[in-house]
Amino acid sequence: MTPEEATRKMQFLFQLRQKGVTDARVLGAMERIDRGHFVRGHFADRAYEDMPLPIASGQTISQPSVVGLMTQALGVQPRDTVLEIGTGSGYQAAILGVLARRVYTIDRYRTLTREAEARLAELGLANITVLTGDGSFGLPDQGPFDRILVTAAAEDPPGPLLQQLKPGGVMVVPVGQSDAVQSLIRVSRRADGAGFDYDELMPVRFVPLVDGLPRD
Ligand code: SAH
Repeated sequence: MTPEEATRKMQFLFQLRQKGVTDARVLGAMERIDRGHFVRGHFADRAYEDMPLPIASGQTISQPSVVGLMTQALGVQPRDTVLEIGTGSGYQAAILGVLARRVYTIDRYRTLTREAEARLAELGLANITVLTGDGSFGLPDQGPFDRILVTAAAEDPPGPLLQQLKPGGVMVVPVGQSDAVQSLIRVSRRADGAGFDYDELMPVRFVPLVDGLPRD
């Protein structure tokens, strides 16, 4: 690592801590996964700034501090199986892949899943499966999941995802109208599986969770 790269990395981690990302495992994973690997082209030199950036198919890679806070709120354990809805660049999936035993991530744009899969393979993260499809329905065949992270805004937490959460499991999802500021919600399924508890965490702004068929 050059001295410039080391300084950049230190500043990146400092920004995260300043915004409230304090969990040592989350910070460790974000130190290990280089965001620059997921931001190519025009915006590559801004990869270490705390801002969302455009990626292909009109989508965005989330702001690093939001990635950190969402990952922290999810409370991923080393033996967990995690489902992510909204692969985008694959950056969030990579961080989950460092923290969990197994990760499934799904996006409706084939262009994005193809690129994300290649990037994750380059990093040697072999415990992540990238799929193309409508994530609102989850992955009934692979579930139930210990953790579910939705990185697109839904009007309500999708029913199939609630059903695919294990008892004691946690889902983090931005909820609200797509053209407004949304609320990041943590849904915890009670240990007896009988009900859900909801916590409102912070205001966020995500692209909408869109219904319908996969796209190129
Ligand atoms: N987690 C990503 C950023 C996600 S942006 C990252 O780390 O880069 C939100 C993504 O959700 C977009 O790529 C969008 O295509 C995807 N998306 C929206 N609706 C979806 C749906 N119904 N099923 C799967 N993916 C969806």
